[in-house]
Amino acid sequence: MARVGIFGGTFDPIHFGHLAAAVNARHAAGLDRILLVVANVPWQKEGTRELTPAQTRFELVRQAVEGIDGLEASDVEIKRGGLSYTIDTVSELRRLFPSDRFFLVVGADAAAGIEDWERTEELPALSELVVVNRPGHPRPEKLGGWSKAIMAEIPSLDISSTDLRQRARDDRPLEFLMPSGAIEYIRQNQLYRDEP
Ligand code: ATP
Ligand code: MG
Repeated sequence: MARVGIFGGTFDPIHFGHLAAAVNARHAAGLDRILLVVANVPWQKEGTRELTPAQTRFELVRQAVEGIDGLEASDVEIKRGGLSYTIDTVSELRRLFPSDRFFLVVGADAAAGIEDWERTEELPALSELVVVNRPGHPRPEKLGGWSKAIMAEIPSLDISSTDLRQRARDDRPLEFLMPSGAIEYIRQNQLYRDEP
């Protein structure tokens, strides 16, 4: 019976905050592997801005986790298509791997909003919760329907995809905030140039 983490995100683009969160969540919860699940259409962000195509975001995540023990990129939400709901992903993974134990990994900002997620009341029966600290977001008091969560501690990394997109747009450095392969891809393909 494997212990599997599900770390969902838009990853637009992936950065060192995500990667530090993932390896430390894996360590704190004693996970065999952790899936970085790339959202197809994140329901919370839908319509708010132009997203990079899901397949591109996935490719950058896949490249970023290459050679990192226990980290895997997952395209289950992209293959499923449509809006990406965590409950559908957890249900699907449990169907595929019925004997595994699943752990939902979220940063503190995401944890604070868990009560509003689609069919959130169904999640605690299907998964355990791991929360990673994030600067500017205190550990949430309420944890959806979970009575407890495993805390994974990382040094405060004030890195966000929003800031990186803005940096790319302004031609400011991305170095040491995200993997160099992803930086190269962003520059070669002129990603994030004309985002408002
Ligand atoms: P955006 O600014 O576009 O919202 P983001 O940096 O918040 O991007 P997401 O893809 O929204 O990245 O986040 C995916 C998951 O990673 C969420 O659970 C989020 O809380 C977590 N996360 C992102 N950045 C960090 C960070 N610097 N430290 C800890 N957790 C993080
Ligand atoms: Mg975010």
